[in-house]
Amino acid sequence: MLNPYQDLPGTVSIVEVGPRDGWQNVAEFIPTRRKIDMINAFSACGFAEIEVTSFVSPRAIPQLRDAAEVFAGIDRVPGVVYSALVPNERGLKQALAAGVDKLVFFISASETHNRENLGQGIAQTLAGIERMMASIGSVKPVRVAVSNVFGCPFEGKVPPERVAELLEKLVALGIREVTLCDTLGVATPGQIFSVLSYLDTCGFESDFGLHLHDSCGRALAGVVAGLQGGITRFDSSLGGLGGCPFAPGAAGNLATEDLVFCLEEMGIKTGVSRDLILQAAGMLEKNVDQLAGHMLSFLRGCHKP
Ligand code: MG
Repeated sequence: MLNPYQDLPGTVSIVEVGPRDGWQNVAEFIPTRRKIDMINAFSACGFAEIEVTSFVSPRAIPQLRDAAEVFAGIDRVPGVVYSALVPNERGLKQALAAGVDKLVFFISASETHNRENLGQGIAQTLAGIERMMASIGSVKPVRVAVSNVFGCPFEGKVPPERVAELLEKLVALGIREVTLCDTLGVATPGQIFSVLSYLDTCGFESDFGLHLHDSCGRALAGVVAGLQGGITRFDSSLGGLGGCPFAPGAAGNLATEDLVFCLEEMGIKTGVSRDLILQAAGMLEKNVDQLAGHMLSFLRGCHKP
């Protein structure tokens, strides 16, 4: 008998990236108290991890200028990892002072995007990551998010060989956990599977996650390609909020509610409560003024339990 799911994992972990990746794209500043209340609601949903904020320069991303206050204000639920993006040593100091559970460094697979996004070349960013790794030792878990793995707004397709080269350098720095990001939302399911197959032939022992955007409605198809390629950790954002401030026109992130409902219907456990994420999405609608209201209304229509 046919069983399309026989080789897929039984359990998947979800990193809710909305508070960082989604909210940084909302033009109007979301008041700190509202952010804290929403993150507290997200904490009850069963996510393995919540990317709470980013310790970037407030000039670069004013929306997240309250990173330290948000961290200080949230109620941490045991078992949930509260992580934050850290761009440099200055951000690292702030993140450590805030008691962040996991540090997320980032780098681009494309030299031009890295220069546009971080104002420096890949080699310089790697050197910065090396210094940060040396200064934290094994005190905190670390993940690196590699952007533009499947394509770059400036350079077009990024060859998987180049991605593998960068991953080798990260492994050499002691980085085990890596998220492969389709920052632009250009990846097709076929491409995702072929990149993962290529990386598999390279023999990496890294723990790979996937960060997808929903261009042309492809995110969920990409998830299935990811599952087939051995991925068991996905980033997603409640309400599908988020683009990329440096990749104009990028579609929203893979929506958490879509991901959870899809996986659970396939018999894959996420640990996330469907009822609670719908409640959290309702809270998001109330608290984020510029949210595309139709998106969430649609969501509640199509995901009625
Ligand atoms: Mg994103």
